[in-house]
Amino acid sequence: MKKSLGLLISLIIGLGINLSLALGQEENKGTLIADSQYFSIYAEAPVDAYAVVSKLKFDYLRFGEKLTKGAEDDLAQILVKTIDGLYLEVSDIIDIHIYSFKGTIRVLPDRPSLEALLKKDYNLDFPERSLYYFEKNTIFISQADITLGMLGHEMAHAIISNFFVVPPPPKVQEILAGYVEYSLNKVHGS
Ligand SMILES: [Zn+2]
Repeated sequence: MKKSLGLLISLIIGLGINLSLALGQEENKGTLIADSQYFSIYAEAPVDAYAVVSKLKFDYLRFGEKLTKGAEDDLAQILVKTIDGLYLEVSDIIDIHIYSFKGTIRVLPDRPSLEALLKKDYNLDFPERSLYYFEKNTIFISQADITLGMLGHEMAHAIISNFFVVPPPPKVQEILAGYVEYSLNKVHGS
């Protein structure tokens, strides 16, 4: 009896340690620079909210005119509006609306750091500028290369993958995501 109780206690302690390890890994996404309705956006230094917003050149940047220059809270708010605005625009283009959607965006400084992270954490060989990783419901993107069309392309993958019980084949997804990118570039410029 005593022995089994001891075993139970050590099991519980063991589980607790495993849980905290798992939580610790979950938190290692970089710095949370903005938390929008549809995405939590994490960045790895030196990338900050300004570095992301300044690359997107989205119409939502007009909100910036009323805001205090350089205030980090305001920049986070601009980023929130930009990301949610883009998400809704992509949803409109492909006519799929998931209002309960919540994903993650992780912004790495450049393509080599993105490639290194994907190799280290997920053992993926991916020498590209951006990726939607379904298993983590996460968009990985390089700040040095980020464009509105590119981010919209990855958002389309995220929406499509979450909407269909069986995600469409890669070629079909690429056609849809490519169409989103083309449409966004046409409206907002590339
Ligand atoms: Zn794609």
